[in-house]
Amino acid sequence: MTAPGTPLVEARKVDKTFDTRKGLFGRLIARRDYLVHALNSVSFGIARGETLGLIGESGCGKSTLARVVLRLQPPTAGQVFFEGEDITAAGAERMKALRRRMQIIFQDPYASLNPRQTVEQIVGLPLRIHQRATRRQARDEVAAMLERVGLKTLHLNRFPHQFSGGQRQRIGIARALIVKPEFVVCDEPVSALDVSIQAQILHLLQDLRRDFALTFLFIGHNLSVVGYVSDRMAVMYLGEIVEIGAARGILTAPAHPYTQSLLAAVPRLDGGGDDKPRVRPQGDPASPLKPPPGCRFHPRCPHVMPVCRSEAPRPVTVDAGGLHEVACHLYSKT
Ligand code: SF4
Repeated sequence: MTAPGTPLVEARKVDKTFDTRKGLFGRLIARRDYLVHALNSVSFGIARGETLGLIGESGCGKSTLARVVLRLQPPTAGQVFFEGEDITAAGAERMKALRRRMQIIFQDPYASLNPRQTVEQIVGLPLRIHQRATRRQARDEVAAMLERVGLKTLHLNRFPHQFSGGQRQRIGIARALIVKPEFVVCDEPVSALDVSIQAQILHLLQDLRRDFALTFLFIGHNLSVVGYVSDRMAVMYLGEIVEIGAARGILTAPAHPYTQSLLAAVPRLDGGGDDKPRVRPQGDPASPLKPPPGCRFHPRCPHVMPVCRSEAPRPVTVDAGGLHEVACHLYSKT
C-alpha cells in the first residue's frame, strides 16, 4: 500500500507488540495472554507534499504507529524508511540528525507543554538542540514563528496556563515547525479542542503545509476532519490497515465493511438518506491481547463468511488505477 511515486516516508510490514508481564517493580507476572498486538504487518507510503489521513477507533494502534514511524519506539518487526533510508537500522547520531526533519504535533496541547517554561523557551528548545542557535537568534526565530501561527511577540514571556486551548495548540505547532521539518505527524491535533476552534487550527495546518511544503501523517477518529485535510486515507482496525485510497473515493465509495460502519456512524442533521451503504457492526472491538484469527473484524462483520474466520484477507485493488486497496474476502479474486 504505497503512495504513487517515490515515498518520502514508507512503512514496510511493521509489527509492534508490547509485553504486559512486567509488574510495578519490573517483576515478571504470570499471564496467559501477555502480548498486546498493537500493529500487524502495516505497510504504506506517503509521497512528498502529501497528507495521508489515518483513521480508526480509539485503541486501534494509530498513535503507536505514529511513534514507530518517527522511531520514538522501535518496531518489533518490519522497516520504516525516510527518503529511502532504513531508519529502523539508524544509530543514535544519525537519528539525531533525522529527528529535525521529522516532528510531531500532539493531541493534548496542555499536557505536551512544560508548564514551568515560557513560550520562548518551549518553542526555542528544538532550535537550541538541533541548530545550536544563540539565545538571541532563537528569540528572533521564535517571534517570527509565533506570528506565523497566529500568536504575537508579546506572548514570548508567557506560560502555557495563560493561553486558551486553541492558542496552546498553536504553540505546539510552532514548536514542531521551528526547525523546518519535512515530515510532520499530526496526532489528533484538534480532538481536544472546541468545535469552533477546530476549523481554525485545520485551516492553519493546511496553510502551513502549503507554505512550508510539508508532508503530513494526519491521525484522527473523526471521518469529516480527517477526510477534509487528507489527499489519501488509511483505515485502521485492531492494528491492521484494512482500506487505503484517495480520501474522496473512501468517503464516497467505502469498500470495507468497517469503513462503511464508520461512515454510517457519522450523524446526519438533515435526517435524509443517501446512497452510502449503512453497515452497523455488531458488538465491541476485540482485545489486542487476543485478536481474532482470520479477519480481525469478523466477530463484528455483518457479511462474515466461513473463510473470514480462518484466513486473513490480503489487500486487493478495487479501482482501475490500482490505488484503492481493501483487505476483505468480499473482494478476493480467487
Ligand atoms: Fe467481513 Fe469477511 Fe470482509 Fe472481514 S473479510 S470484513 S469478516 S466480509
